[in-house]
Amino acid sequence: MMPVGLLLGLLLAGLVFWVMWRQTSMPAMIRTALRQDEFSMVYQPVVELATGRWVGLEALMRWHRPDGTMVSPDVFIPAAERSGQISALTAWVAERVLTETRALLQADPQFHLAINVTGDDLLDGRFHASLSTLLQRHGVAASQLIGEITERVFMHTGQTGAQIHALRALGMRIAIDDFGTGYSSLAYLTRLELDYLKIDKTFVDPIGTGAVTANVVSHIIAMAQSLGLTMIAEGVETEAQADFLRAQGVQQAQGWLFARPMPIEEVRQHMAKGAT
Ligand code: C2E
Ligand code: CA
Ligand code: CA
Ligand code: CA
Repeated sequence: MMPVGLLLGLLLAGLVFWVMWRQTSMPAMIRTALRQDEFSMVYQPVVELATGRWVGLEALMRWHRPDGTMVSPDVFIPAAERSGQISALTAWVAERVLTETRALLQADPQFHLAINVTGDDLLDGRFHASLSTLLQRHGVAASQLIGEITERVFMHTGQTGAQIHALRALGMRIAIDDFGTGYSSLAYLTRLELDYLKIDKTFVDPIGTGAVTANVVSHIIAMAQSLGLTMIAEGVETEAQADFLRAQGVQQAQGWLFARPMPIEEVRQHMAKGAT
């Protein structure tokens, strides 16, 4: 029998090693992944609730490792934010999505593409200028691009407010992402220039379940309406949720009920068949 003290010591050493390994190897893995093209993009359709028509796409990143495993964006995006690599990822995403979607966007000037933008991107004073160059190079109108920004970013406004202003001056649209999950100050909502409010899945889930939390979504909707923001409900999985949101005046939605995120070839096939 191993003494308990030794066993605990070994466990602790293992834990410390694991934590250190995660911290040191993740940035290196991300660097390698960028170099060796392990990242790819999928696109989730955004539908107009009144008609079911596809009005746009949200671009979402995927990481398939050479060993066959997948790393979730909920793991590698926060890791890249911590290690200061997120701006490199956003730059990669912007280039890739415009390459993949420009034909679709040019074919329908009303169709939009949303990308996720982080706090670091907004703190980079050249972000809007590099996006502008990229849009011109790909021949895509800025008005077709939506930048999705999470609430957390607004904890340090000031700088970010100026960058949002610059993006909107280009003609880009801004969506507040994961609304209601983060920083609950409503002051920034009135202060910042926003176009869309994305209702987080947390508030869509309880619709129709009879849970008290089901009422919260009605308040979010009323607030978005009073601010004149277009609403996009996230994570819509049932007809009951879609019916409720439609009846409440929510204009657009995303969710497995309509379509899962898919590679660009699949988007093209659906659209060629007249999914929109
Ligand atoms: P998000 O921006 O809130 O994206 C929505 C997430 O909900 C996506 O997860 C999507 O696949 C998932 N989803 C959509 N419809 C449904 C549904 O009906 N049911 C359920 N259960 N899930 C649904 P995903 O792709 O795993 O991305 C997770 C998060 O990672 C994103 O949350 C976003 O914050 C971040 N992320 C993903 N791609 C990028 C990227 O290119 N750049 C940045 N900065 N962040 C990204
Ligand atoms: Ca998003
Ligand atoms: Ca979201
Ligand atoms: Ca989310």
